[in-house]
Amino acid sequence: MEYRRYFGQAIDRLKAERRYRVFADLERDASRFPMALWHSENGDGPREVVIWCSNDYLGMGRHPKVIEAMRAAAEKYGAGAGGTRNISGTNHPLVQLEAELADLHGKESALAFTSGWVSNLAAISTIAELLPNCLIISDALNHNSMIEGVRRSGCEKTIFRHNDTADLEEILKSVGHDRAKLVVFESLYSMDGDIAPIGEIAALAKKYNAMTYVDEVHAVGLYGPRGGGICERDNVMSQIDVIEGTLAKGFGTLGGYIAADNVIIDAVRSYAPSFIFTTALPPAVAAAAAAAVHQLKISQDERALQQQQVARTKAALAAADIPVMANTSHIVPVFVGDAELCKSASDILLEKHGIYIQPINYPTVARGTERLRITPTPYHTDAHIASLVEALRDVWRRLGLPFGAVPQPTIVEQMPKPHLKIVAAE
Ligand SMILES: *Cc1c(COP(=O)(O)O)cnc(C)c1O
Repeated sequence: MEYRRYFGQAIDRLKAERRYRVFADLERDASRFPMALWHSENGDGPREVVIWCSNDYLGMGRHPKVIEAMRAAAEKYGAGAGGTRNISGTNHPLVQLEAELADLHGKESALAFTSGWVSNLAAISTIAELLPNCLIISDALNHNSMIEGVRRSGCEKTIFRHNDTADLEEILKSVGHDRAKLVVFESLYSMDGDIAPIGEIAALAKKYNAMTYVDEVHAVGLYGPRGGGICERDNVMSQIDVIEGTLAKGFGTLGGYIAADNVIIDAVRSYAPSFIFTTALPPAVAAAAAAAVHQLKISQDERALQQQQVARTKAALAAADIPVMANTSHIVPVFVGDAELCKSASDILLEKHGIYIQPINYPTVARGTERLRITPTPYHTDAHIASLVEALRDVWRRLGLPFGAVPQPTIVEQMPKPHLKIVAAE
């Protein structure tokens, strides 16, 4: 058996499909965010670049209060957690973090996990599994971590068309009032930047006696008067049973969580293997995350400045005829529509313009909708925006990409039902 050959062939398949990924070697500069040093593969010395695709949406990963909380906790408690919570108990900063998170979402309790990905896997699978004969009703564009949770539950599932409440209602109606039903969806979809009709989904769930689970990963910290996400902004937090979020994007650190009623949190805590059998977050990470959550509860500055720079970026790109895909969120997707060209655009931006924007290709988005996904932060200045626009115009000319509006027919808004998107956004 030539074991190695199979791995080589697997890699070759990805390369043939232009799906092989290369990760840039970067040193993010905390004192000069969003600046970083790029170590190119050709061995030249490191070069300065501007990062335009970070999910550290508000720059909280470099906020002085967050860094200080991390430093102080590491000095006081050490570098690691010392074990699973089952074995070693819970470090106090993690207890404080969970209290901050429960309060953020107006829920009785919260439970932290080592990542958002793990929190979706653990919570969706455990909640569905503990209900008798549960049917999971899942949005067609849900993230990979939610799909893994659905699979792991072993429960029957059905997919509703993306953000389509009529389709959802049809399913709910056909299943009937008495069967256990869990509706799982995201509040803000990170590749198109579109937002779910959460209030309508919650009302339907109530009408047909279903439980609701929402992934607010791309919204926590960024929306709502205290950073509670789209549910807080839309005043529907209390109508959703389980809110899931990450500490690694808007909150700039690491970890994931759910917030819900005591009894739900206690059940997941007690039954989910991916919670029970893995070492807890280090106390320094918990303290840093709690500082970020707290800061974004009491301050509007980060959100306001980010929204302002997002609006300016969208307006400047549109004025320069760069095809920005419209949405009402902080995500700025620029349409390319071809995997190879998307990769080339990203390469030219980095090599010629010192601008880092990762290409977004299949399977993260549908084929024919490849794009550059731009995420302005409060720290991207007007000068950064002006250089970005110039650089993109240069790239568009070099590659012969069309200027102007996003070509309509190539955008696949609706996945045909019952299409299950296996690997979703990241
Ligand atoms: C990134 C992401 C996650 C996973 O969160 P991590 O903390 O990065 O593991 C979950 N859901 C969605 C929608 C995401 O985009």
